[in-house]
Amino acid sequence: MALSGEQKAEARAIATELAAIARSAKVLPGSLTSRRTRCGRVGCRCMADPPEPHGPYWQWTRKVATRTVCRWFGADQAADYRTWLSNDRRLHELVARLEAIGVAAVETDSRSVRRSRGRKPAPPA
Ligand SMILES: [Zn+2]
Repeated sequence: MALSGEQKAEARAIATELAAIARSAKVLPGSLTSRRTRCGRVGCRCMADPPEPHGPYWQWTRKVATRTVCRWFGADQAADYRTWLSNDRRLHELVARLEAIGVAAVETDSRSVRRSRGRKPAPPA
């Protein structure tokens, strides 16, 4: 169960980065996609040849329970919140790395019982 010096150092580096993101308080779940649309009105530039669609409009999408929730952002909002969204992605990457250290600890723990094919693992003595 003992962590290596390397794993402890990695955990400390992760903690520093996590703290910096948390201090910024700029964390937003979801993703941002740009959309261009055609209104379909005759004579509009979006119907010209070649067509010049409207936008881009920015759509912020996130999951709330099992539902996908969307909201439109202006270009200025999209620019402002882009960093918030990447901070959120980074938080998840950092937590995944911490979890990988935990999994590695279990894998190298001499008390862990390996599951052999077709047999239930024996409970620890
Ligand atoms: Zn149009």
